[in-house]
Amino acid sequence: VAERYHTAVIGAGAAGLTVAVGLAKFGKRVALIERRHVGGDCTNVGCVPSKTLVHLADHLQMYGLSPAEVLARVRDKRDSLREEETTWVKDIENLSFIEGEARLIVKNRLKLTLSTGETHELEAKNLVLATGSRPVTLAIDGLPEARTLTNESLFELSKLPEHLAIIGAGIIGSEMAFAFRKLGSHVTLIDVAPRVLGTLEPEVSELMQEALCERHIDLKLGAKALRYDETTGTLQLEQGGQDLTLEGVDKVLLALGRKPNIEGLGLERLGLSYDKRGIPTSRAHQTNIAGVYALGDLDPISAFTHSANAQGRRVVRRLALPWLPLLSPEPSYPSAIFTDPEVATVGPTLAKLKERYHPELLKTLRVDLKETDKGYTEGLTRGFVLIHAMRLSGRVLSATIVAPKASEMISLLTLVVNKRLSLYTLSGLVYPYPVLSEGIKKAADGFLFETLGKLAQELGGYLRYRFAPKPKKRP
Ligand SMILES: Cc1cc2nc3c(=O)[nH]c(=O)nc-3n(C[C@H](O)[C@H](O)[C@H](O)COP(=O)(O)OP(=O)(O)OC[C@H]3O[C@@H](n4cnc5c(N)ncnc54)[C@H](O)[C@@H]3O)c2cc1C
Repeated sequence: VAERYHTAVIGAGAAGLTVAVGLAKFGKRVALIERRHVGGDCTNVGCVPSKTLVHLADHLQMYGLSPAEVLARVRDKRDSLREEETTWVKDIENLSFIEGEARLIVKNRLKLTLSTGETHELEAKNLVLATGSRPVTLAIDGLPEARTLTNESLFELSKLPEHLAIIGAGIIGSEMAFAFRKLGSHVTLIDVAPRVLGTLEPEVSELMQEALCERHIDLKLGAKALRYDETTGTLQLEQGGQDLTLEGVDKVLLALGRKPNIEGLGLERLGLSYDKRGIPTSRAHQTNIAGVYALGDLDPISAFTHSANAQGRRVVRRLALPWLPLLSPEPSYPSAIFTDPEVATVGPTLAKLKERYHPELLKTLRVDLKETDKGYTEGLTRGFVLIHAMRLSGRVLSATIVAPKASEMISLLTLVVNKRLSLYTLSGLVYPYPVLSEGIKKAADGFLFETLGKLAQELGGYLRYRFAPKPKKRP
């Protein structure tokens, strides 16, 4: 007879752990099934090893470690956390942690292939899919497996690559470019796109390209990897119709994006809707099948540990406290990129905002952080605060910060965006002196002077464009 649970959660990453532990703490009987390691990608092959590496690479002299010792320290820290999390999860009341792979038989019934090889079945009233994602890969002609890295093998390196070619100048590629360069590798960052961090504001790409070049990281944009020659150790690229040869490449890191882990779960049997971006869900993260939920990297909206955790809390609330009022729409999640300097954003880019609002309704405020007193005392040469707000009302729609600790500065703006607060509020806030967040206040003050200085014009402009149709996009 199959065991019965209130909820079965597949995947013990950030999303699955949040749901399973939360429900268990509310007294629900939960089964949490994991086929690899507790902590999922974040603990094992994502945030934790990558941010340990970024930190150690930044403080090489302080720790007095060789590059090989840094790589070993990254693994040690990852392993300790994994062990700690595994012990913790096994000890939680109401939670059965099951090591194995799960697939669906019918809606409320799962088949488990345990790590011991045995099979087992369980039943649950609710099913939570939190199976995460994996790296997109690319076959490069002639490139042996032993020279190919993804985030799943990168942190297993015991020796620093001499010349690391990174394909993909997105978040992971850019973060790792800085870290490996600081450790001493020669790094070439390659992308087919014309700019790095191409999904962010163009101002970010421009600044980041300067920062990468200053570190002597070679940038090959608008370029494609064609083939690798093992005898000469060369990587052949094509850039703008010309062939380029990168010499002495000993490792190639593929950082091309992520794809959701959907295959093999048996979802087709349920008629559960999904596409190649993931599983679309309702506000409460329910799929098109009642009682089946999906979240974290499986959800096209979420790509971070903090968003997986936030979504997990919403699922816990729905399943454990169904009598609470309907959940509000999903908030804007911030993102943080641990390059040098860091980048943090919340809300849509200007290009996306223009799809939603008439461009004349939008105000953009930019303050270069070297113009703040803290920027001056720290000798900052680059970095900025960029805010897009609604004309007249000053409601903050989105923001980007590029600064040494941008990740620590973005939460104020995340609150402002999600609570629909305005630049008037930010201007009235008192900031400690001196801090780089003064850039936020300066941006808000700039808006105030401009708006209140010509109030009649701003009011007229607002009323004219608030209800006017948006200009047609050129084809
Ligand atoms: C290099 C890198 C750096 C990153 N850095 C950051 C960062 O600094 N900050 C940040 O917020 N985010 C970061 N991320 C993103 C973050 O790691 C993910 O968004 C987060 O891990 C998603 O959590 P999840 O629970 O949805 O999925 P996962 O963490 O991937 O967990 C899914 C789990 O499900 C298990 N599983 C899958 N299928 C089955 C099955 N059939 N049966 C049983 N178990 C199964 C998997 O083994 C896995 O453990 C980074 C990612 C990478 C790759």
